Amino acid sequence: MTGAVFSRAAGRDLPVVAGGRGAELFDTTGRRYLDAAGGAIVVGIGHGSAEVADAIAAQARSVAYVHGSAFASPSLTEYVETLGPLLPVDDPYVYPVSGGSEAVETALKMARAYHLARGEDRSVVIGRTGAYHGNTRGALDVSGRDGLRAPYLPWLGSAARTTSPYEYRCSFPDSHPNGCGAQHAEALEQVIVAQGPQNVAAFIAEPIAGAALGACVPSADYWPAITEVCHRYGVLVIADEVMTGFGRTGRWFGSDHWGVRPDLLVAAKGAASGYWPLGLTVCSGEVHDTIQKAGFVHGFTYSHHAVGAAAGLAVLKILQRDGLVEAAAERGEQLGAELQKELGDHPHVGDIRGRGLLWAVELVADRETKAPFPRSERVAERIVAAAKERGVLLYHSTGCANGTEGDLLVFGPPLVITPAEVTEVAKGSANAIREIL
Ligand code: PLP
Repeated sequence: MTGAVFSRAAGRDLPVVAGGRGAELFDTTGRRYLDAAGGAIVVGIGHGSAEVADAIAAQARSVAYVHGSAFASPSLTEYVETLGPLLPVDDPYVYPVSGGSEAVETALKMARAYHLARGEDRSVVIGRTGAYHGNTRGALDVSGRDGLRAPYLPWLGSAARTTSPYEYRCSFPDSHPNGCGAQHAEALEQVIVAQGPQNVAAFIAEPIAGAALGACVPSADYWPAITEVCHRYGVLVIADEVMTGFGRTGRWFGSDHWGVRPDLLVAAKGAASGYWPLGLTVCSGEVHDTIQKAGFVHGFTYSHHAVGAAAGLAVLKILQRDGLVEAAAERGEQLGAELQKELGDHPHVGDIRGRGLLWAVELVADRETKAPFPRSERVAERIVAAAKERGVLLYHSTGCANGTEGDLLVFGPPLVITPAEVTEVAKGSANAIREIL
């Protein structure tokens, strides 16, 4: 053998991709697919943008790489100055990296560096049950996906965990319909107190839990109550907007739905829409200035990449010029309504939830008891395969907060998806569900 790809689809033959345009992908046999998941909820501005390709080529032709400690890059300066006013962070400083996991690692280190610079030896980071923050060791440690963590447990263990807002299987069912924010805030406070407040550096969470828990939108009182507890104990708030950032949920950032101003924010996926592996760690001016007094011991060869910045800037300009954040809100309402119309009465559809163009359908064996299907049946995986046969690409997850491993179909199409394509997605996925269940 001369060499082979270590495949992410072991044992399965994959179609060979030939090209893409907007929300469509084509394979080498000429088959068309509607990309209702944007890959892994990555592609915002759509496939096949010559504009972004040209921006990448122009930067690479001029100069592709300089070390971030040796040169400033005009593309990076312009990118950060254009992005800054859109970020829900006070006096934002942007540290560009190569993806979501690197951005999370950087944020965790910034949180620790901030406290150390203030003379406080805080190291504990609190994550949430069922959460996903990436596959590198630090990011996996603050994640709550047991299946992903299991082989690596000997390397993990410094993070603590609190409850996730997951209304369909809420830990505090009696609090509804008023909202369970106060109860989650109390649970978080108990974890902080148990760890010793002087030890807790940060709390990390997605504003709207994305693929792992399936588009879980918290009740309106959740974020105000959570941020109040964090501030009271001097715990930094890290908003993981890797999935929810750059318009995905119908606002520029998920934090915007509740006016949350995190101390640190991480983004990736939609930032360069898949055209370049770009991630961003953003910190407030206060966090930045404090860290810089002592110096930040951290760095990656490919951080502050000029081509990444050119790709991010081109994507940002398209999002702004074409009103794609507003489009995500509109098309999202349509997708939610059509999924509800197609599937609202299906005996194995337990919940349909989401915001903007991030939606999930939770499948259950029994609607009354909300009992999930046995994992061995691999229901979501089979539906994703059936949908692909019908030319609709979905994403699946086994959302596992509150001890329940279930079957989730996740929808996150490019924000450029047309109304007719939204209908195709809703009908195609509903037919795939009916075929399997
Ligand atoms: N955080 C969240 C919320 C994510 O959804 C992901 C990826 O799915 C990550 C972090 C990790 O990002 P990456 O896969 O780019 O390392």
